[in-house]
Amino acid sequence: MILRRLSKKDIELVDDARLLIRRRRNRKSRVAASLRTKSGSIWNGINIEIRECAPCSICAEYAAIAKMFTDADDEIEAIVAVSLKKGRYSVLPPCGKCRQFMSAFGNPYVILEVKGKLKKARLSDITLFQYAG
Ligand SMILES: [Zn+2]
Repeated sequence: MILRRLSKKDIELVDDARLLIRRRRNRKSRVAASLRTKSGSIWNGINIEIRECAPCSICAEYAAIAKMFTDADDEIEAIVAVSLKKGRYSVLPPCGKCRQFMSAFGNPYVILEVKGKLKKARLSDITLFQYAG
């Protein structure tokens, strides 16, 4: 897996997700995702956790992609998911379902936290990535 440094735009994307999860109105949601399209638009969303029906829940990446898709944009350049627990932000790797879903919208850079540092890797590279947290 090739890990790259974040660009200024990537850092802005992380900041966008941090801001969204901090300002969320539904306190049950703990994860926000922000994505940038090839055309330069930024879309974001938060996860919807349904405790009574886990399979009905959706990840934040799905929410952000749904907004992007509604606007008829369909190619993701970069995406990040950020959680906020006990006042600490963490960048989360996408789950298997999200990786599969994202692959329908290009081969974006996924921003990851690797050994405490933010890096980015192509989606196609992280499908084999064993995340060691
Ligand atoms: Zn997911």
